[in-house]
Amino acid sequence: MCSYLNPSEFQSEARWRPGSVLGIESSCDETAAAVLSCEGEVLSNVVSSQVAVHEKFGGVVPELAARAHLGKIDMVVREALATARVSKHTLGAIAVTQGPGLAGALLVGVNYAKALSYGLGISIIGVNHLQGHIASAWLADSMFPLSCIVLVVSGGHTHLYRHEVDGRCTLLGRTRDDAAGEAFDKGAQMLGLGYPGGPAIDRVARSGDIQVFRFPRFHRAKHSLEFSFSGLKTALLYKLREMGGPLRSQQTADLAAGYQEAIVQVLATKAFAALKQSNLAALAVVGGVSANTRLRTVLNERAAREGIRLSLPPIEFCTDNAAMIASAGRQLLMNGERPHADLDITPAERFVMVHEETRSNIGFSKG
Ligand code: ADP
Ligand code: MG
Repeated sequence: MCSYLNPSEFQSEARWRPGSVLGIESSCDETAAAVLSCEGEVLSNVVSSQVAVHEKFGGVVPELAARAHLGKIDMVVREALATARVSKHTLGAIAVTQGPGLAGALLVGVNYAKALSYGLGISIIGVNHLQGHIASAWLADSMFPLSCIVLVVSGGHTHLYRHEVDGRCTLLGRTRDDAAGEAFDKGAQMLGLGYPGGPAIDRVARSGDIQVFRFPRFHRAKHSLEFSFSGLKTALLYKLREMGGPLRSQQTADLAAGYQEAIVQVLATKAFAALKQSNLAALAVVGGVSANTRLRTVLNERAAREGIRLSLPPIEFCTDNAAMIASAGRQLLMNGERPHADLDITPAERFVMVHEETRSNIGFSKG
């Protein structure tokens, strides 16, 4: 005989019981699942990229992203459990990206996670994607100190936070227009390097000379921690118009190197300015752009020179992945956050400026 739980019964039953955590991420164009052990060790981290689906359009097509997630999610979760050698029946909780992101894409992950948690009678916790990126700083370096400065640089975000010991995050500065990853993607498109643009510019710039083309670096006021990349993009457009005709491969490489250098130097300068202004000596740089080779070199050199403790997650934790979502979810549950069986997607949820406490000591707002 079948017995059905109604949602209120389910909620009271689905208490967080310490155990391994399954993370699910589907906010944009990666379908990802990961399993963390009871102690927080990453047992598996499976990412299925949709690059092949979107590359002919030069960017992510939301409807296609949602369909691709639907086709892949079950397989990705099964693979994550198999690789981790964890039975779904021994899971303690499921953490899933709730927002921000593409609504259709988020719906796939959230509904899958809800159905699985309902079926297994275990807790489900919604995670903010940015909070996931921030958690990645501690995935490979669990002793990374707090308080610290965190720079989140991805396709949708360029945000500088001060992260306190108790988990509170204060936004110190953000981009006024394009995110750094967006600047990489749009720059690559103009240079004819395709999608996704960040890795393409990274690769081509290695054979370029950063001295040949100097692109503008936005610094607004002396102590400002705000970013802007739209002027840089326009400068590349004008430069390409001025040069005319098809580019030689060395010219493309030099342009890519100069363009990348402008982004990297601005990111590094502001991150180190934030450290100085906050009188802190620990910096974490997370999100897809933190995979950039030149950015990692510049940050490592400067951190060594100035005695700054630097956390740069391994590449597999920089771009979107579910290990960071599982880690952030596990942290929320350990901090006493109540699981919510009726969670919904929050496509436009974002971090807010200072210390607004609504969830787990980290400021969130909808809108
Ligand atoms: P999202 O923006 O959806 O959170 P990610 O955190 O995976 O996604 O970040 C994706 C962004 O990171 C894209 O804009 C991509 O071009 C950029 N990116 C990825 N790898 C590199 C790299 N090596 N150099 C520069 N940018 C990169
Ligand atoms: Mg991301």
